[in-house]
Amino acid sequence: MLIERRELKHDLGEVLMRPVTRSDVEEAGEHWSSLPFMDKASILDQLPHVLSTKNRFLQEWVTTSGTTDTPLLIPLTETDLERLRENERRSLVNSGVRADDRALIFVTLDMAFMAGLAYYEGLRAIGAETMRLGASALHQAPALMSQLNPTVLIGVPSFFIRLSQELENSKVSVDRPRVLICIGESLLNEDLSPGRLYKKLKASWPGSVIVSSWGNTELQSSVSWCYQSAERMLNGGPGPGGHVHEDLLHIEILDDMGNPVREGEVGELVATPLRVEGLPLRRFRTGDMIRHVEGPCCCGYKGPLLGPVVGRKRRRLKIKGTSIEPDGLQMFLTHRLGVENFVIVIDTVKGHDHLQLLIDKDSDLELRRFQSVVRSYLRVTPEIELVSGEAIEAWRQRFPSRKKQFILDMRR
Ligand SMILES: [Zn+2]
Repeated sequence: MLIERRELKHDLGEVLMRPVTRSDVEEAGEHWSSLPFMDKASILDQLPHVLSTKNRFLQEWVTTSGTTDTPLLIPLTETDLERLRENERRSLVNSGVRADDRALIFVTLDMAFMAGLAYYEGLRAIGAETMRLGASALHQAPALMSQLNPTVLIGVPSFFIRLSQELENSKVSVDRPRVLICIGESLLNEDLSPGRLYKKLKASWPGSVIVSSWGNTELQSSVSWCYQSAERMLNGGPGPGGHVHEDLLHIEILDDMGNPVREGEVGELVATPLRVEGLPLRRFRTGDMIRHVEGPCCCGYKGPLLGPVVGRKRRRLKIKGTSIEPDGLQMFLTHRLGVENFVIVIDTVKGHDHLQLLIDKDSDLELRRFQSVVRSYLRVTPEIELVSGEAIEAWRQRFPSRKKQFILDMRR
């Protein structure tokens, strides 16, 4: 049976304790794409090990933002902090920040938040002047800005729009900053045309080059527009793609079946942060739906260019008190277990989420073993039924679609 052949014991609750390097990816070659994915559940699997092992190299704990679910704890070693600093130094330099800049950081630096720390460390590595104002310094900002005349501002676009209003109301004179580095909110529409926030920012801060940067705490990595492409957009050019530091992050954009999407198509960002020690991850499913922007960049950069995050892939269900992801289950069944014909039917029963797995009875599997493997993956026993291929097709007919459906969400 397929399950044994695919070395399942490595697939379940795998703990990676060694940093992944670029040469690991290169040596794996084609085999790389058959390596198991990791997700938030893998981080939860690793944490008890990290916490129980007295690692004297651990230096810093941060948490993920938890905007979509519970925040996760992420440990960093001193080397990870250096990596984070180097990652952000390069992103900021790429975005046009220089040693002679004076930067105001309107991003949270405490609350176990990684981005604020990364920006601060990156600016220090460049040698720029910094001031850590935080995310709620709207009213203090005008007086400080009139004295300091900062050349770089780092913050959330909607905050910058309010800040421009605040400066206008307070009637202080401030030189326009050369660069606005934006996080947290996307500036582009899916087709890379300027979004509503970009247009408002451009009108509020005439002449300032607007750069979008975004990162991922689990990956300890960030992506940013370069100054040249941001300047070009300001002058009516196309929306830029974010530069990826390829020696620090390996990226894949995959479709529902786990295959690379075609050039320009939207897929899930699956990424491997390289050289991370505290919590190494491999093929981490971010759940961010994203696409490649055609390169090379106008600055000459030939590496991958990422478009804005256009949505979240994951839906989460609570089944018997356990949070599970049907999309993850689909990938697991298809890629790890090699099950070809099935549907996951999601419904609401007596006010609770209900999941039923219908498998083609002609599939080459032994039900009891299969149930136990799926239970280990989900941490809960799902309802599994072997049915005919026709019955599965009949279920699919209820949701006509151009693509073959594996998840039928009856709750919609
Ligand atoms: Zn560029």
